[in-house]
Amino acid sequence: ALDLSADACTRVASRIVGSLQFGVPLHGMDLAVQPTVGIACYPTDGEASDQLLLRATIAAANRGSRSDAIRRYRVGDEERRVRQTRILSDLRSAVRADALSLVFQPKLCLATRRVCGAEALVRWQHPELGEISPAEFVPIAEQSGNISLLTRWVLDRAIRACRAWQAEGWDIDVSVNLSAQDLCDPGMPAAVDAMLRETALAPSRLILEITEEAVVQDAGQAIDCLRQLRANGIRVAIDDFGTGYSSLSQMRDLPVDELKIDRSFVMRLPLSRDDAAIVRTTIDLAHSLGLEFVAEGVENEASLDWLAQHGAERAQGFLISRPVNETEFLVWLSRASQQRASAEHRPVNRQRAAEV
Ligand code: C2E
Ligand code: MG
Ligand code: MG
Repeated sequence: ALDLSADACTRVASRIVGSLQFGVPLHGMDLAVQPTVGIACYPTDGEASDQLLLRATIAAANRGSRSDAIRRYRVGDEERRVRQTRILSDLRSAVRADALSLVFQPKLCLATRRVCGAEALVRWQHPELGEISPAEFVPIAEQSGNISLLTRWVLDRAIRACRAWQAEGWDIDVSVNLSAQDLCDPGMPAAVDAMLRETALAPSRLILEITEEAVVQDAGQAIDCLRQLRANGIRVAIDDFGTGYSSLSQMRDLPVDELKIDRSFVMRLPLSRDDAAIVRTTIDLAHSLGLEFVAEGVENEASLDWLAQHGAERAQGFLISRPVNETEFLVWLSRASQQRASAEHRPVNRQRAAEV
């Protein structure tokens, strides 16, 4: 409520934060505190005092990393906050009402050019806000501690879908994305087991994708969880590899089966020499650690050939197929299998093999 410029406010705030850096003395102890300051200025950020206070609070809540303790209100922050709150509350009811859906993106085995599985990706068509990307609502669910609700829904649907493919004669696996927090959920391994038992899907048909971040955050707990999952035969992949901060020693100790390099390294293959060098080295690293290598984001024929030549086991990307719904996926599988069969002038086997 002082009449200060934004710069002057920031200087005052820095002095306050600075004076708290060695903690606050209380009963002879120094309590560590993590101050956060939000700044909203009259009249640019609001006219009325309650609006200024609200926007200063929003600015404080929106700060990115732990290191920026001071944050000025930015245009649109309030609207973003309102949208996030809306998404969070609607997401919980959407999960309960089965209003989400899954799409599946096929994964190709490079040695045989057959389909070996599909990644399940969640979709949400909001009745008023339209299609909302998982890149937007998954982080909101994570930050608010609601991810396990979503993850369990996705797991249940993906496992049932995969079971249905087996029943149709397609012996392929399904990959599901887990969040960092799912690995801290002590009930997760048992929940996954129960779903597998209920559908009678072989655990080896399920691949769980986790990011490096998930393991870096709470390595001990995450590794315990991964071990339990793998003990039952479920496979684990590291997703978006190369974008996180895992160290080589963490990599060495990780109980995983598959390394999936981030699509940003794959999309410009084979022309980008830097990306080619990184991918080649990562394929070597994966194989040296006894892991299989998967590339996502394959968008052109030349990169698919390059990956096959360099020993990558599997590939996924728009070139092979965009993510499609369950019905379209079954149609796609049949068509891929027929194309392959007619190319080879032989009838489709009874144990159908999906090939491209
Ligand atoms: P991801 O796990 O790395 O999934 C792959 C993303 O890459 C998908 O985006 C897919 O549509 C996109 N993609 C696939 N092939 C290509 C390609 O050739 N080129 C390009 N440019 N992109 C390609 P999507 O579906 O928007 O998902 C984004 C992210 O949201 C996922 O990244 C994943 O981290 C997260 N996500 C999606 N579904 C779930 C879920 O059920 N649970 C959790 N925790 N996260 C999910
Ligand atoms: Mg993934
Ligand atoms: Mg990925």
